[in-house]
Amino acid sequence: MNNPITLIIVAISIIGIILFIRSAKNKKKALQEKLNEKFPIAWRNMLKKSVFFYAQLNEADASLFEKRVQLFIATKQIEGIETEIDDSIRLMVACSAIIPTFAFPKYNYPYVHTILIYPNSFDEKFQTERFEGHKEIITGMVDSRNQNGTVILSKPDLVRAFDGLPHKENVGIHEFVHLLDKEDGAIDGIPEALLKHQFVGPWLHEIKNEIARIEKGKSDINPYALTNNAEFLAVVSEYFFSNPEKFKNKHLELYQFLSCIFNQDTVKN
Ligand SMILES: [Zn+2]
Repeated sequence: MNNPITLIIVAISIIGIILFIRSAKNKKKALQEKLNEKFPIAWRNMLKKSVFFYAQLNEADASLFEKRVQLFIATKQIEGIETEIDDSIRLMVACSAIIPTFAFPKYNYPYVHTILIYPNSFDEKFQTERFEGHKEIITGMVDSRNQNGTVILSKPDLVRAFDGLPHKENVGIHEFVHLLDKEDGAIDGIPEALLKHQFVGPWLHEIKNEIARIEKGKSDINPYALTNNAEFLAVVSEYFFSNPEKFKNKHLELYQFLSCIFNQDTVKN
């Protein structure tokens, strides 16, 4: 220990640890200060106008929703790729994440760090340019190219999803439901972290029945649900959260399964 090099290494290590702890404390303090800020009125007005789900909430739940929005925006990187993004886009991303997890108030997508906003839909090579014969068909995805949780969303499709009206499609909710499905390790349409083991069999049976109805043209569910069980879950969840009354009327059993998975009744009365 008397060796001067050893002493220098020990001293540098101690300084490093102190700086690390100080930086972590500062970050925590800055985050807490942000979370203590009053929810901006402009944000509240935007939520009321554009987010059907939020507009249905009672005062206490709306306030809880706003806290979750603040936390999500303060802790995730939301970045425009060759496109400008403003607070309204950040709010739409946060809403997409919070709506399906509203019944789990402590959940904040620990594996998601970055949400990239593309200027348009894109193809498998992530190109958004339009030229003759080119089909951009992907409006959102959970990017599996890296491990650190990135979601990509097409800006116009996200904006279309949050026009304040009830409808069946919402690309943001779709992608965040895939992430919840992934919590048990696999995006397979069976969100085992949310669905009790004894309901897995009946859920798969329900999927099979509804798929048969879609194939026969007897269902109003987007046929993209036929792709596989994971897409089925994401597609019906979009409908469940975006137009609950109609969904419950037309698909009572599916509604009951999704209420159980997400632990919430989207029809409020
Ligand atoms: Zn999907």
